[in-house]
Amino acid sequence: MPYDNNNVFAKILRGEISCSKVYEDGFALAFYDIAPAAPTHVLVIPKGEFESFQDFAARASAEKMQGFFYAVQKVASQLGMDKNGYRLISNHGKEGGQVVPHFHVHLLAGKPLGALVAA
Ligand code: 5GP
Repeated sequence: MPYDNNNVFAKILRGEISCSKVYEDGFALAFYDIAPAAPTHVLVIPKGEFESFQDFAARASAEKMQGFFYAVQKVASQLGMDKNGYRLISNHGKEGGQVVPHFHVHLLAGKPLGALVAA
């Protein structure tokens, strides 16, 4: 499926929709989730047209992958999430629960997060 340039995260990357920015560098943008599922809930997205983790891992250059995952840990340490712990989630596709078709990871922290998957 071709990348949808009109998805909400593409619009955030182009500055057409505002976000509450946490971190930005040449590879990634991080911002607070609009509907937080934990006391701290940040989304980290790569700068590039990648639909999901599956697509990113298959097509992104080694430099882009390294840059992206470096940014994820930067955000976690910038927000102090690394001290008590955090959860990293990336949904792919329909059954994975992906809603926005631009690769993103959720960084969740701020309380004990419990079971990995809700029953
Ligand atoms: P997914 O289910 O695709 O893994 O997660 C998409 C996430 O994007 C959801 O947690 C949702 O709350 C968040 N989201 C959707 N639209 C917006 C938006 O316009 N701004 C922000 N900051 N988050 C959004």
